[in-house]
Amino acid sequence: MRKKVVAGNWKCNTTVQEGVELAKAVNQLVAAKGPEDVVVVLGAPFTHITKVVESVDGARVGVAAQNCAAEASGAYTGEVSASMVKSTGAQYVILGHSERREYYGETSEILNKKVALTLENGLTPIYCCGEALEIREAGTQKEYVINQLEETIFNLSADDFKKVIIAYEPIWAIGTGKTASTEQAQEMHKDIREAIAAKYGAEVAEEISILYGGSCKPSNAPELFANPDVDGGLIGGASLKAEDFIGIITAY
Ligand code: PEP
Repeated sequence: MRKKVVAGNWKCNTTVQEGVELAKAVNQLVAAKGPEDVVVVLGAPFTHITKVVESVDGARVGVAAQNCAAEASGAYTGEVSASMVKSTGAQYVILGHSERREYYGETSEILNKKVALTLENGLTPIYCCGEALEIREAGTQKEYVINQLEETIFNLSADDFKKVIIAYEPIWAIGTGKTASTEQAQEMHKDIREAIAAKYGAEVAEEISILYGGSCKPSNAPELFANPDVDGGLIGGASLKAEDFIGIITAY
């Protein structure tokens, strides 16, 4: 059985104190009503991670960085390496988010290095992929997304690939209030799983959690998560309010 995962992405929001309060509130709600079989992850800013790790029950709530450096260590002012992330107690790194690809020039080559370093340090990459609106309108979204996977994670060995969580996030649905329809989400998740099966075999494909991201809320999560190939969500805006986030976590 593959894991169900609901991961929050706080992005560049909250002070350390606000982040700790949010983490504690989520932790309490997860303890009270979070389904045992749903893995909950908080994607906190680097500055917050150590304190967020201390504020949650690690057995129920994991912590993710939102990025890491493409180099292991050295003279890279301002960068935070995968080994540094590991030393905080975080277990995950969100990689390849469309905002990082678009605003910070993250290419497939850079992502290759980041994915490899994340895995080398025993962290789980939450690897994001997804198409822009013009690609969806041209009807070439499947080719586009599969190509992203081929360029960045299909070079991994099967053993490493099995450790990756994939998040399909259509860019046109991120922070826009526009959600992919349940059919659009299922179709792409199935296409991704079939591409994994073609590359790594059906058994590996069945094990990989594929999350949906893009304006996911407590109101639309039940319908999205009911799809056979949707294994949870990567949640932006709605992860900033503990009540909304738990509403999504309990949507299964
Ligand atoms: C995201 O940025 O990963 C995301 C899914 O954002 P939102 O939920 O706000 O659309």
